[in-house]
Amino acid sequence: MEVIVADNAGFCFGVKRAIKMANDTMDAVGNQVKSLGQLIHNPQVVNSFQKRGLEVVSDLCGVEPEDTVIIRSHGVGPKVKNEAVERGLKVVDTTCPFVTKAQQYAARLIADGYKVVMIGDKNHPEVIGVVAHTQNQAIILDTVEEAEKLKFIPRMGVVFQTTHAIGHVQEVVGALLKRGEEVRVFNTLCGATTSMQKTAIELSSEVEAMVIVGGRNSANTAQLAEVCRRVNPRVLQIESAEEIHEDWFDGLHRVGVSAGASTPDEVIAEVVDRITRIEPRAASA
Ligand code: SF4
Repeated sequence: MEVIVADNAGFCFGVKRAIKMANDTMDAVGNQVKSLGQLIHNPQVVNSFQKRGLEVVSDLCGVEPEDTVIIRSHGVGPKVKNEAVERGLKVVDTTCPFVTKAQQYAARLIADGYKVVMIGDKNHPEVIGVVAHTQNQAIILDTVEEAEKLKFIPRMGVVFQTTHAIGHVQEVVGALLKRGEEVRVFNTLCGATTSMQKTAIELSSEVEAMVIVGGRNSANTAQLAEVCRRVNPRVLQIESAEEIHEDWFDGLHRVGVSAGASTPDEVIAEVVDRITRIEPRAASA
């Protein structure tokens, strides 16, 4: 099988930075390190850190005074950071600079008297952290339908989940423009995700099918699969090479591969190797 890998597939700058900071911390401190939530949305990476002694905790209650606590690339709200400082904890903050920017824009908008609307998944940790920078006053929505249902807002400030697809936020912003008099939009999309989606979309139109690799709980992997599906309906989303079944490739000769921002190179290489070894065969009737 011919396999073409999209440019920019896999680890983004923010994830590489978070992993490096976590590795350096583990090397320096040993096993008294805790991460607030999973470091990145990839089970293989999380498992390897856990084997080295990194413990995942859901909040600061599980952190002892002598521990070092890692804030992951999705970031947290100001209350969590303040509590860590008040308790004198050692904090390693790996919040991605793109996420920090979104947090700062949201805080600035609320301070300037705007009602903040965040376009994103209300359950995603990044969105929860950004909204916490508005004293949890922001409205979170993710669809044109939800935007159309909003009451009229005289001064509206808009930010986006960093990993959203540009086409999607354009549609939702279009609907929001009808619900406000002054609508101030900050482009908080992450450049890494935007170029990853662009190259994957281009590749989707040149191949018979796309395979998207990444954690099932990774928002940017799900978005990547979604934008590819709009161009080429034959998209398979998997976490690892073990999930590949040859039958899915029946009738195919040329397949594209891309991967979410938290997918390690080794996982992508295993998937590519596995698909390359599949002998093209006719589609079953
Ligand atoms: S996907 Fe973008 S925002 Fe998220 S960690 Fe990577 S670079 Fe940062």
